[in-house]
Amino acid sequence: MEYSCAFRCIAGCEGSYDLEEVIYRCPKCGELLEVSHDQEALSRRSAPAWIKLFDDRAGSSKWPYASGVWGKKEWVIPHIDDDCIVSLNEGNTNLFWAERYGANIGLPDLWVKLCGNSHTGSFKDLGMTVLVSVVRQMIKNGKPIKAVVCASTGDTSAALAAYCAAAGIRSVVLLPKGKITTAQLVQPLANGALVCQLDTDFDGCMAIVKKLAEEDGVYLANSMNSLRLEGQKTVGIEIVQNFEWEVPDWVVIPGGNLGNVSALGSGFDLMYSLGLIQRRPRICVAQAESANPLYRAYKEGYDNYEPITAKHTEASAIRIGNPVSIRRAIRTLQRYEGVVEQASELELAEAAAAADRTGTYCCPHTGVALAATKKLLARGEINPKERVVVISTAHGLKFTDFKIRYHENQIQDVESEHPNRPVALPNDYDAVKRAVLESI
Ligand SMILES: *Cc1c(COP(=O)(O)O)cnc(C)c1O
Ligand SMILES: [Zn+2]
Repeated sequence: MEYSCAFRCIAGCEGSYDLEEVIYRCPKCGELLEVSHDQEALSRRSAPAWIKLFDDRAGSSKWPYASGVWGKKEWVIPHIDDDCIVSLNEGNTNLFWAERYGANIGLPDLWVKLCGNSHTGSFKDLGMTVLVSVVRQMIKNGKPIKAVVCASTGDTSAALAAYCAAAGIRSVVLLPKGKITTAQLVQPLANGALVCQLDTDFDGCMAIVKKLAEEDGVYLANSMNSLRLEGQKTVGIEIVQNFEWEVPDWVVIPGGNLGNVSALGSGFDLMYSLGLIQRRPRICVAQAESANPLYRAYKEGYDNYEPITAKHTEASAIRIGNPVSIRRAIRTLQRYEGVVEQASELELAEAAAAADRTGTYCCPHTGVALAATKKLLARGEINPKERVVVISTAHGLKFTDFKIRYHENQIQDVESEHPNRPVALPNDYDAVKRAVLESI
């Protein structure tokens, strides 16, 4: 085999572990593991040759390369059998030029990577295709896996249930009761997962799922398992490819459990080390003020990180007080001249609504990232001439209730600035005409 990869400790302990081993932490120091690729082998192919290979596959229909993740298979999981891959054509999402919104805020080169335009409506599909594919390979090779489990703020469970259903594998999801949207609850129900609603928050579900994963035959799908990050890292590669292999100045990403920002960094690392790009972007992690443990640590120079109890936020998918990938994320931010910014409920709701009036349909997490972008611009950290990409993590349609409440002026702590209500009218031409002509 030409290319290979294995699990290694992120803190640099000796030893490597086969991807088909059921292992999530370093047995020596307890830190998380990462998938480490044979860089030597990868660097035998030149940067222009990689670019040509990836560009040739974009738009291809040859299995499994139509997927934005598996189009980079050699950089993801090179040795997996093609017929074990469980792909729902994830990735290759629209990079939306936010022309009007950018002009409105004084940032003309602003782009939104719409990762929610995906099979289950969030970026979680990018990672789940990899994890479930490896599980399918493990089962094929005789590993006694009976079910794949995760704790979730709503999107991981939707992705896990869909990919497992597509592969015929049993899935189990642990959800914090009443803290996810209706759409997010229905998704795993429809896909046949065992859905456990727990009377706790996400961090409570996470604590239980970690123990559950110690049972025989139960495999863990949370981003503690770095297989997910191998798929998610393609987002940065895809962005650069979308810009014809030019690096943007900034990437702004909403962060909760902080796996995604770590994945973003590792995608850029790989392009950098293999010579596809010559510089790194700066990264901003955006957090909701109600769930901001990374922001607090950042303010203290990262030395005094403390988990917190996350409070209510409309950005429910990032309502996390004890992020699993905190160390990975801090290391990433240190390599990428990173900053952390936060957004209040008012700021996130208004940013999402303002962007929507220019043609997007933002989830509240994207609102958090847009609000953070505006703050960085206002204090001169982002220069108005710079190219900025905001990662939109989920589809707005999963968050209909948030949008309805914004327009009904019903969001807690928020006085909506631009509510847009339906106009009730009788079945009468003159009344309709009057209403229309008065408003245009
Ligand atoms: C999971 C998720 C996030 C946070 O990603 P992390 O890797 O947990 O930081 C942000 N937004 C949405 C919509 C998500 O589903
Ligand atoms: Zn270790």
